[in-house]
Amino acid sequence: MKPVVPMSSPDITEAERQAVLSVLNTPNLSMGSWTDRFEAAFCERTGSKHAISVNSGTAGLHLCVRAAGWSPGDLVITTSFSFVASTNVLLFENVIPVFVDVEERSGNIDPGLVEQAAADITRGGAAARRWLPRQGVPEGAKLRGLLAVDVFGQPADLAALRQTADRYGLGFIEDSCEALGAEYRGKSAGTFGDCGVFAFYPNKQITTGEGGMIVTDDERAASFMRALRNQGRAPGDTWLQHTYLGYNYRIDEMSAALGTIQMSRLDELIAKRQRVADWYAQRLAKLPFEAPNVAAYTSKVSWFVYVIRVPKGMQRARVAAALAERGIPVRPYFLPIHLQPYMVERFGYRQGDLPVTEDLGERGLALPFSSVMTEEQVETVCRALAETL
Ligand SMILES: *Cc1c(COP(=O)(O)O)cnc(C)c1O
Repeated sequence: MKPVVPMSSPDITEAERQAVLSVLNTPNLSMGSWTDRFEAAFCERTGSKHAISVNSGTAGLHLCVRAAGWSPGDLVITTSFSFVASTNVLLFENVIPVFVDVEERSGNIDPGLVEQAAADITRGGAAARRWLPRQGVPEGAKLRGLLAVDVFGQPADLAALRQTADRYGLGFIEDSCEALGAEYRGKSAGTFGDCGVFAFYPNKQITTGEGGMIVTDDERAASFMRALRNQGRAPGDTWLQHTYLGYNYRIDEMSAALGTIQMSRLDELIAKRQRVADWYAQRLAKLPFEAPNVAAYTSKVSWFVYVIRVPKGMQRARVAAALAERGIPVRPYFLPIHLQPYMVERFGYRQGDLPVTEDLGERGLALPFSSVMTEEQVETVCRALAETL
């Protein structure tokens, strides 16, 4: 059946259309003043010293991995309960992901397990081995970093993670691609790692079509990532001089113009998403499905997707099929990364390795969600949910 409610939807006004059109009336379609304005908006919003725009969140994360200086065979602690890009950027550089399990309530990486894993892996031997993948780890591999993800618009336990990273001398990348505008004890998500990354695919809090943004206070890293984004051209290089192996990860001016206007509306967009989340929460209170939890350390949620959990013992696939019959699109969120076929083949991960991640992966169901959703549409989704019982 054709969807009666879209899964997600961008929120675009006349101001965005005018800004994009104004770019098209100039000869400057790349590396112009809108890109500068878009980056400045992120410095202002997050309080970060540097913001580097890129053409996707994945590209931004990849540049952060290069800037962290992690080498082939290095170990990085991360989470399997995420969108696959957060682990893929490690594999691009042959860095080994060491998955630890997540907090049941938030779905974010468990800071206690991160601390334990860092201690055991640093110690080495049998203590280390219980955290590492069964295969694909070179002899003598060293723990070098932590890559945390702020899942579904809620920060991970960032202060605790920062402490562990500092204690063990780990580089720390914060994947905030799902959490633009969220706050951890009053401070912006994305600003707790050495570098943080935001993303602007059309289902995110703001969109540029495709795009991403890195924020950091590290001057050296910022300059290096600016060079890598632009085919490895260092400051002072001419167009055909390339100091480093780089990429074309530049954003274009149309996207930057769209993003600049979207950023000026960020508080409005987050407030509208919060209102939709509240409509859902009211109705879900009367149903057996679990609404999302908000952790005590989250001072502001910036809803990305709205993921409910089907109760233990209920078959998610049957709920999803019954909703699809009624024209309600839903998605299982997330399918754990460690169980994706290429991860199983390379590292030998198995079902049962990360019980909390797998449980959430089996029970999570993302409902239709966007800032432009109406209360009537939420009502339609929740009525269909009630009927599946
Ligand atoms: C959206 C997202 C990304 C980046 O996605 P792009 O499509 O490359 O912009 C990275 N990590 C997470 C957790 C995401 O949700």
